[in-house]
Amino acid sequence: MSAKLILGTEIREQILEEITKEVAEIKAKHGKVPGLVTILVGESPASISYVTLKIQTAHRVGFHEVQDNQPPDIAEAALLALIDKYNKDESINGILVQLPLPKHIDEKKVLNAIDPDKDVDGFHPVNVGRLMIGGNEVKFAPCTPAGIQEMIVRAGVETSGAEVVVVGRSNIVGKPIAVMMVQKGRGANSTVTVVHTRTKDIAAHCRRADILIVAAGVPGLVKPEYIKPGACVIDVGVNRVGEKISEKTGKKIAILRGDVDFDAAKEIAGYITPVPGGVGPMTITMLMKNTLMSLKYSLGIA
Ligand code: NAP
Repeated sequence: MSAKLILGTEIREQILEEITKEVAEIKAKHGKVPGLVTILVGESPASISYVTLKIQTAHRVGFHEVQDNQPPDIAEAALLALIDKYNKDESINGILVQLPLPKHIDEKKVLNAIDPDKDVDGFHPVNVGRLMIGGNEVKFAPCTPAGIQEMIVRAGVETSGAEVVVVGRSNIVGKPIAVMMVQKGRGANSTVTVVHTRTKDIAAHCRRADILIVAAGVPGLVKPEYIKPGACVIDVGVNRVGEKISEKTGKKIAILRGDVDFDAAKEIAGYITPVPGGVGPMTITMLMKNTLMSLKYSLGIA
């Protein structure tokens, strides 16, 4: 058997087109577009490239985008004052603080200062609580789990009554996706098991999964014998396993590998996401969706 590929690169294009269309409609009717600010402290090349991609995507879908770059020695109080300014700015619907922050700044304090109604990353404790309650309480689901759920839905995989096994229990992927899949509603109603490093027989749990979501950060952790024939396998892992020269640019680029032994797994699974090109492109896409939702909430049209 050769599994059907679920491509984040394709789903991203569909969703960004939908967002672009909706932004134009809202602009015509209400005279407003979603506003997104990214706050970048310092000059880490990785952070600059993440922020640039977010800003470029926001621009592409017609948002009002602001890139606020701050020096690495900005005082914590000054950063908190900046967040307060954007909390009060009606043209801004989403506030992103690029992590990591320099050591002299308390990351938690900064993230918790963001107005939960502008926390489009979905990491504020208020939004984590809303996610746990589920239903209409949810305003912003965290972007990577939201992307995973959207991929499963758009691939046409049945989630209601499905056995879902999540490998990993991090606050950004494992725990939130487990909570989301167990809720009532679209793309959910599943029976969920979460496994981690203290789980006794990971393979046995994984083999029961109709939908296997792997977010461990261990290249090739999931072997073919972990997979139930026909299962949907979502590989969240992004692991740098080496470097190569890009044919396009001639520059050095990372060789990326997922948490699943892809070549063997695709012969057993019914659906599978590749790495790269699978879950990766969904995170920024869902960030755009959350920012659009934030404007819609503020206009009372969500
Ligand atoms: P994390 O915070 O390091 O958490 C990893 C989780 O996996 C932990 O709960 C850990 O268990 C569990 N785990 C590690 N090794 C395991 C093993 N051998 N068997 C079973 N469980 C194991 O990682 P994360 O932030 O969730 O990220 C996971 C992966 O997803 C990484 O490769 C990351 O780069 C990738 N990622 C991709 C995206 C994206 O594509 N947009 C976004 C976020 C993350 P314990 O809790 O017991 O230690």
